[in-house]
Amino acid sequence: MVVKSWKSEDVGCQIDIDHDLCDGDGECQDSCPTECFEIVDKKATVPNIDECIECCACQEACPTGALKHSSC
Ligand code: SF4
Ligand code: SF4
Repeated sequence: MVVKSWKSEDVGCQIDIDHDLCDGDGECQDSCPTECFEIVDKKATVPNIDECIECCACQEACPTGALKHSSC
């Protein structure tokens, strides 16, 4: 298990992504209305987490259970 974490002080939330489980299919990126995600080397990253509106679409879209959002 290789869990990477992104935290937003502005929003007060955190996204954890297990890069062992992430297959880079981009479902989280496609589902996010505010373009928080970027796929790097076939793994999801969240460079724009400060734009998050806590809609939970990313967690719901992830087919592997790799992505956990602290508000969802
Ligand atoms: S909770 Fe919504 S706005 Fe926030 S990163 Fe996930 S899809 Fe994007
Ligand atoms: S939806 Fe899940 S498995 Fe797909 S890229 Fe995003 S975190 Fe990885």
